[in-house]
Amino acid sequence: MSSPKTLLIDGRWHAAQDGQAIDVIDPSHAKVFTQISRGGKADIDLAVAAARSALSGPWGRLTATERGRLLMRLGELILAHAEEIAQLEARDTGKPITVARNDVKVVARYFEFYGSAADKIHGETIPYLDGYNVSLVRVPHGVTAHIIPWNYPAQMFGRSLAPALAMGNATVLKPSEDACLSGIKLAELAMEAGFPPGALNLVTGYGHEAGAALTAHPGIDFATFTGSPEVGVMVQEATARNHIPCVLELGGKSPQIVFDDVDLDKAVPVIVKAITQNAGQTCSAGSRLLVQENIYDRFVARVAERFAQVRVGTPEMDLDCGPIVNRKQRDRVQGFIDEAIASGVPVLAQGVLGEGIPGEGYFVRPTLFGRVPRDHKLACREVFGPVLSAMSFTDEDDAIALANATEYGLAAGIWTENGGRQARLAQRVLSGQVFINCYGAGGGVELPFGGVKKSGHGREKGLLALEEMSTTKTIVHHFK
Ligand code: NAD
Repeated sequence: MSSPKTLLIDGRWHAAQDGQAIDVIDPSHAKVFTQISRGGKADIDLAVAAARSALSGPWGRLTATERGRLLMRLGELILAHAEEIAQLEARDTGKPITVARNDVKVVARYFEFYGSAADKIHGETIPYLDGYNVSLVRVPHGVTAHIIPWNYPAQMFGRSLAPALAMGNATVLKPSEDACLSGIKLAELAMEAGFPPGALNLVTGYGHEAGAALTAHPGIDFATFTGSPEVGVMVQEATARNHIPCVLELGGKSPQIVFDDVDLDKAVPVIVKAITQNAGQTCSAGSRLLVQENIYDRFVARVAERFAQVRVGTPEMDLDCGPIVNRKQRDRVQGFIDEAIASGVPVLAQGVLGEGIPGEGYFVRPTLFGRVPRDHKLACREVFGPVLSAMSFTDEDDAIALANATEYGLAAGIWTENGGRQARLAQRVLSGQVFINCYGAGGGVELPFGGVKKSGHGREKGLLALEEMSTTKTIVHHFK
């Protein structure tokens, strides 16, 4: 087989310099169906150099309006190729085709949102001494590095790259080796949209090779990473060595806090979806269900009823949940379930495997556990699978103590009709996002997103992402 050419460097597609490749496996059937280039340090060197020269070439000379038009053109091309991208995404990740189709709309929206924002980024003036004009302007970092995961590969392409490009950075993206086909297609469309060479470079490969080479590269000016806390630490160390800033978006153990005045019919389907969509492989999945003791049994029984109806299948079956992305993750998630059962935590409900599901695929049954002890691994550790852990609390103080009792702080859901309690809890819960009587894992592209504590730092999405993707320059002009 000839070497695949999935590295986009300086506007052209290349094979890895050493010709190596990685097999791509379809998680629904556990079968290899294509290959990608196994990019390494030498390829990263070329990509960073291409990005650097783009800053002083045609890309760097574009006006903000021209950059914005390119982003919006890419958004239009994504919509024109939506079905093809969705099919690639579904096969690569295993997610139901309807979910993949929705993800593609979101990517297009990222390019539309940041494209239209590109020429609306204003600076400030600062009153200073007599005879001076002081202005504060926003400037791009320069070369930005983007490491993204496999759970929402297409969405993450837009979320990470669109604000960076809108600000005028030249980018190098290292998508996940577990799911990068949609990213390759999106990069092809970026070329078709007319992005000048070097503005957007993409290097496929393993994290410990291409990813580590990119984040440690002395030629980058900024890095943004989404993935595990363990790798997040490595990225932070690598960027600190080069004295450059980084944004980290690392997992969560997000609580759904349910009080006895909850609107049950509204809450139950949202809570079940928030842990089963994308097979629970969502950093902001609502994975802890904290219910006030006096309604615990009644509420959890309703959740269990709904949970038992969750159906698992291949992308074409288009059910509620697909497989887990790869064998390692499947074994990890199944390990959490088996260990909890063995330690006596009661299973209240499990989803069903759809009829005709391929036996060799990486499927797990979504599982609802009840009365999980507060110090149990299930109550504190991120499973990154469709596993919901129910626990009870007595009052507001207890609810907050429990909600804040993990190392994470990404999102939280608050379910109560009491306005004062909504406001108090929203203030006291330690998390980057709070949803009151709703839960939008990820939310819209307009909403800034990120974590506190071990969930990371910095913000993506919304207009705040433009601030992260740029730095300020203070210009002091003495005119007397
Ligand atoms: P990971 O952190 O290993 O991978 C995420 C990305 O980082 C991938 O592109 C990978 O190639 C890259 N990477 C890996 N090692 C690297 C290194 N040394 N330097 C630079 N980049 C590197 O995550 P994973 O192994 O794919 O998944 C493991 C766990 O991570 C999951 O169980 C979950 O808890 C968490 N996770 C979180 C998110 C999220 O959205 N926050 C997404 C995926 C995984």
